[in-house]
Amino acid sequence: MAKTTTSSEGRPSLPMQGVPQPSRDEVLNLPRVHLSSHPVMAHKMTALRDKNTQPPEFYRLVKEIGALLAYEATATLVLEPASIETPMGPMIGERLAGGIGVTPILRAGLGLAEGFREVIPDAQIWHLGLRRDEQTLEAMEYYNQLPHRVDLQVCYAVDPMLATGGSAIDAINVLKRRAIPRLCYVGIIAAPYGLLKLSRTHPDIEIYIAALDESLNDVGYILPGLGDAGDRQFGTF
Ligand code: URA
Repeated sequence: MAKTTTSSEGRPSLPMQGVPQPSRDEVLNLPRVHLSSHPVMAHKMTALRDKNTQPPEFYRLVKEIGALLAYEATATLVLEPASIETPMGPMIGERLAGGIGVTPILRAGLGLAEGFREVIPDAQIWHLGLRRDEQTLEAMEYYNQLPHRVDLQVCYAVDPMLATGGSAIDAINVLKRRAIPRLCYVGIIAAPYGLLKLSRTHPDIEIYIAALDESLNDVGYILPGLGDAGDRQFGTF
């Protein structure tokens, strides 16, 4: 949980206190933003948000929601013809043209990445560690396992909570240095503030989310949200 700190005048300094935030309606029709409308997703989201859902069930739901999001986010992947023989004779089938990368932003993105692997088992997993400074909410890189050779058609940066947008923007900045033809961001819940910031900073990427919530509280947590996505997956309360 983000902690409050004290300013030089002795007042508590809360990073989002007094910061103007756009409304949900203002960001609903942003270009390249895909908000899931699938009823199965809505059903799973309610179970995920419920404070009584315990870590093993929470992690299982994050994986299932990750698989549903992967299905939606991969709908426009490029295919190439592939000659094969069925038991009945030759045919021209189709295969994905080029590799698929998934970049989980550690640690909360791990469950979502597992969900992607259920849909695309041969996706490359490029781990990236970004930590939010709890006072400034700035993202800091502390771990990077991105390979040197890039042979992807697309890479998905995955992180469940798009709150202030800092980590998402930084992750896309890191991936943009790798000359990957297409980049996407996939999250479970977005706040209007972070969604607008990510979409304005990186207008060329597609953004896939399962839900768009109301706002951020004074310490940068999403309302109504689900609490801390990392703690709830890994039981570290
Ligand atoms: N990170 C979380 O885990 N939850 C929030 O609400 C915001 C950021």
